[in-house]
Amino acid sequence: MQCLTARMDGSPPTLTERPDPTVPAGTDAVVVRTLRVGIDGTDHAVVTGAHGSPPTDADRIVLGHEAVGVTETPHPRLPVGSVVAPLVRRPRDADTPPRLDMAPPASVHECGIAGADGFACERFVADRRYLVAIPASLATAGILIEPLSVAHKAIDLAIAARRTVPWDPAHAVVIGNGSLGLLCTLALQEDPRVGRVSCMGRRDRPDPTISVIERLGASYLDTRETPVPSLAEAPEPPALIIEATGHAPHAFETITALAPGGVGALLGVPAVDVRELDVGRLHRELVIGNKAIVGSVNSGRAAYLQAVETLASAPPWFAESIIDTVVPPAAAPDAFTGDDTTIKTAIEFAAYEERR
Ligand code: NAP
Ligand code: BGC
Ligand code: ZN
Repeated sequence: MQCLTARMDGSPPTLTERPDPTVPAGTDAVVVRTLRVGIDGTDHAVVTGAHGSPPTDADRIVLGHEAVGVTETPHPRLPVGSVVAPLVRRPRDADTPPRLDMAPPASVHECGIAGADGFACERFVADRRYLVAIPASLATAGILIEPLSVAHKAIDLAIAARRTVPWDPAHAVVIGNGSLGLLCTLALQEDPRVGRVSCMGRRDRPDPTISVIERLGASYLDTRETPVPSLAEAPEPPALIIEATGHAPHAFETITALAPGGVGALLGVPAVDVRELDVGRLHRELVIGNKAIVGSVNSGRAAYLQAVETLASAPPWFAESIIDTVVPPAAAPDAFTGDDTTIKTAIEFAAYEERR
């Protein structure tokens, strides 16, 4: 079968022939026929080698951590033909941490990112406990469940940080209008605990991401006219900020931009970026302003289920606007060459066919 693999040295990914997977005897695993795999900013960092690592003793990694597929082999709790989205993390040792998404990075592998092959193959094998059954109606949009679950986990962690005090996030801001930023904007728009939502970018109109933001009912703010720290002086400074760029200065600007009592959740995975900072001012702003910053990575089953609900109730145009490019595996290597106009590329390995 064909798999999309990368050497993780900046060279373009290639299609590589790999043996068809089989279910290892005595395991709780099933074979999944891949429908689609999505590409995000992290995949680009994996290809350049800026993030992640190949499996032990391998010189290439199979890409792809955002996936949707259909089960092909029987399992007592998962009928053949179930549409599933795989979780990304696996334990490194038999000793499984209780919450893989909260586990120390050294204790886990991430499929398609760090230490384990991903899902950009015609088929993959996964243990039942790492598969989330999703409605067949999400068979094409299902690649959005993983990144949307990342958004949900971050929002929940931020809100949990204010559980002990009265807190009403009347204004929430997402920094970044890439695919993750747009999914964060959707999740916040649909969250009854959150008031109005803005999403920040650095793009000129017309731009498809700005259209998505505004069609969702959120506002677009241009960081070139409204720098992130200037939000603090706005009539309604944000009580909640989600950073989804990987641009490290935005992480620290978040502290300044937050309203007193506010919470920032950082999602971007930055490269090394050495700068001078007034750490005294930032420390003071955090303490005197009762502000909190949480980092958040990956997600678990509960967040996947939240994402399923959000995606199922999203406006009908949403998924197609985000997944604006669908390519066959043969064209997938080209999807990694710079194209600023694409929001998200899906690699389509197979079309969904309902079982009769
Ligand atoms: P993406 O599609 O490449 O989007 C990146 C966004 O950041 C775009 O809005 C981009 O703006 C903006 N940006 C990039 N460099 C910037 C800079 N120097 N200044 C200001 N804005 C900048 O990536 P993505 O898939 O949305 O992911 C965003 C980040 O989150 C990445 O770092 C990714 O690795 C990380 N991520 C983390 C998790 C997690 O579990 N924590 C999950 C998924 C992704 P332009 O397009 O206008 O350049
Ligand atoms: C993935 C997460 C992963 C993170 C860090 C993100 O793009 O969606 O599942 O934990 O990268 O590697
Ligand atoms: Zn990702």
